[in-house]
Amino acid sequence: SPVHVHSFFEMVLGTLSKVAEKKEIRLEMNVPEELYIEADEDKMKQIFINLLSNGINYTPEGGRVKLQVSVEHNEDEEEVVFAVSDTGIGIPKKDLPRIFERFYRVDKGRSRNSGGTGLGLSIVKHLVELHHGKLSVESELGMGTTFRVILPLIQDEEI
Ligand code: ATP
Ligand code: MG
Repeated sequence: SPVHVHSFFEMVLGTLSKVAEKKEIRLEMNVPEELYIEADEDKMKQIFINLLSNGINYTPEGGRVKLQVSVEHNEDEEEVVFAVSDTGIGIPKKDLPRIFERFYRVDKGRSRNSGGTGLGLSIVKHLVELHHGKLSVESELGMGTTFRVILPLIQDEEI
């Protein structure tokens, strides 16, 4: 069913604002006001809580985590592009191909205090695929990371 993207992200960012504040991380969003997407709201919530939480976890104090949403034409389809970017520690090139695997974590030292299991991104990948979407990542060590989720604006079938 249609999800109002702007209210959806106000809600999602609201649930993360305490954690971000504690770490003095700025949470920003840039989302079109009139946009609705045909998607499963609970699954979307899991996708973006995971990506935004990673952004907060892997960004040092004083940093920024930003969500940017836009609509793009691709062939004869309308796609919604969700970019989650942070100013965090980044991911080494050699690890990038593996971060979507279950239980994969870049190294124990850097993520020791985040207490994760390494499942988050594998769940994100699964849920994006359920929506017939695409998922990609760009990262520069010590500079930051951007995850891009691309979902069709309209689904051909029920999810
Ligand atoms: P959890 O299951 O609690 O999400 P996790 O965060 O360790 O645990 P994933 O979300 O799957 O697991 O991420 C896998 C690994 O990818 C992380 O351990 C971390 O090393 C790296 N990673 C993920 N997102 C980022 C990011 N935004 N910046 C830097 N490294 C990241
Ligand atoms: Mg995670």
